[in-house]
Amino acid sequence: MTDPAAAAPGASEVDSLVTRCTACPRLVAWREEVARTKRAAFRDQDYWGRPIPGFGPMDAEILVVGLAPAAHGANRTGRMFTGDRSGDVLYRALHETGLANQPEATGLHDGLRLHRTRITAPVHCAPPANKPTPAERDTCRPWLVRELELLRPTLRAVVVLGAFGWQALLPALADTWRVPRPRPKFGHLAHAELEAADGGSPLHLLGCYHVSQQNTFTGRLTPQMLREVFDRAKDLADA
Ligand code: SF4
Repeated sequence: MTDPAAAAPGASEVDSLVTRCTACPRLVAWREEVARTKRAAFRDQDYWGRPIPGFGPMDAEILVVGLAPAAHGANRTGRMFTGDRSGDVLYRALHETGLANQPEATGLHDGLRLHRTRITAPVHCAPPANKPTPAERDTCRPWLVRELELLRPTLRAVVVLGAFGWQALLPALADTWRVPRPRPKFGHLAHAELEAADGGSPLHLLGCYHVSQQNTFTGRLTPQMLREVFDRAKDLADA
């Protein structure tokens, strides 16, 4: 693994470098096994089977932070939230709030572009049962820290999808922004404003239930709730 903290890759390098990371043996084995065995519906496709870089401009004002790539979604297509039901819900909401040019996300060459927005995850490789270990989360943190450093000049709001992402993000923010004590708690539409350590613009954290099928199929997270979160993020970024 290239240590992004030590190497400090620039915006044009970090997305390429992360795709070559092999720091977590369990995740390397899993992402490659899934890519080899495939799901029957995708047996004719070549799976990506590597770490998934962040997606969207590195001068974004809004960052969406998930959990980790899905085995047959991003691990297949090579792009965050692309090719699965969670992504269908997420990108439709981004499109309807003006943050994406189209609602569909099917593959790397589908023409999708994000406006003002970037999407990333605290763990860049698909984990078994969608559950990275705390050690894997910590091992991947330098990539998130470097991404946040690069986004720093423009970043104003972070939408965090789910409690795992919230817990993983807070320590990664601590070098650049002041994280309050006690730490802000995750909740849907939970909001925390973090002062910048350098006296610059603050950062707004917004919690949102994860776009997993478990939440969207049960109505815990509806399309309207998701649109409201992105509209709020836009307002906070504009303020
Ligand atoms: S999860 Fe992160 S640190 Fe671990 S192998 Fe993947 S990219 Fe590297």
